[in-house]
Amino acid sequence: MAYSREIYDAAEKVLSKRRKMAEDDAENRRNEFYKSCPRASEIEHKLASTAVSTAKAVLKGGDTASQLQKLKEENLGLQQEYSHLLAEHGLGTLEPHYKCEICHDTGYVDGKMCSCMKELMRSESYRRLNALTSLSLSTFESFSLKYYSEEPRKGRPCDRDIMRSTFRYCVSYAQKFGLDSPNLIMTGGTGLGKTHLSLAIANEAIKKGFGVVYASMGSLTAKLENEHFGRESGTGAMDSTRECDLLILDDLGTEFRTSFSSSAIYNIVNTRLMLKKPTIISTNLSINEMIAYYSERFASRIIGSYRRIAFVGRDIRQQKRMQDE
Ligand SMILES: [Zn+2]
Repeated sequence: MAYSREIYDAAEKVLSKRRKMAEDDAENRRNEFYKSCPRASEIEHKLASTAVSTAKAVLKGGDTASQLQKLKEENLGLQQEYSHLLAEHGLGTLEPHYKCEICHDTGYVDGKMCSCMKELMRSESYRRLNALTSLSLSTFESFSLKYYSEEPRKGRPCDRDIMRSTFRYCVSYAQKFGLDSPNLIMTGGTGLGKTHLSLAIANEAIKKGFGVVYASMGSLTAKLENEHFGRESGTGAMDSTRECDLLILDDLGTEFRTSFSSSAIYNIVNTRLMLKKPTIISTNLSINEMIAYYSERFASRIIGSYRRIAFVGRDIRQQKRMQDE
């Protein structure tokens, strides 16, 4: 996976912080232990000096073997006493407790990048993609049905009833969200709450610890294009969108369409279908428009593998603006 220097540095920074925390904590535990148990501190000094005595004995020559044997026995005795004292004070070890047992928070093991470092770079990449959106503003609690009309409709439920079931579906989708959740396509005009409810789902999935990328189509395709043509340093946007646990593509059809962007979108959607990773797309486009804008192949992929969620009503932003006037 191609990540830029900044992403790499950000991950290194987190690791060195973790390392320092673990080492400071070990240092504190050691100091505490020696304060409450002066004998332990004494033993540590003795152990250090037996190491020096051993070296001296070897240098001096003479009956080295028996001298060394004696030192070794002393040493063992001291070490045993030390572990007894540790146990008495309810301490197992004074070694640092690293967050990652495999690499001791260095990020590398046997010259290879550790999985914890990869994980850090992945989440940093998501964070940067998501920084483009105000993710925390839209929640289920802040969604209101009052903007949807209760006026009876011929042959179908009123707007509010349709939106109530859409809302309930989204809440339960978020509650039950997992890697086997279905793909959704949210359809309907501008300002009907598609962005709001998809953001609310994103928030819930993030709270559950899933790696979520939320991308508005306009900024995503610009970013992909810039990274692809080397105009912007790589943040792994393409890989992140393909591999995250949940991808939300907001406002399909509003992006600046080029042959590059169309094939990039197809590629992302298709790869995620193959990897069986859930995606949520929101769009104002009808199926016919989708065929005209992209391709029949793309539209049929969406129809065949996405569950359609309908949004109806009158533009909420417009209603709010009129209320304010
Ligand atoms: Zn590690």
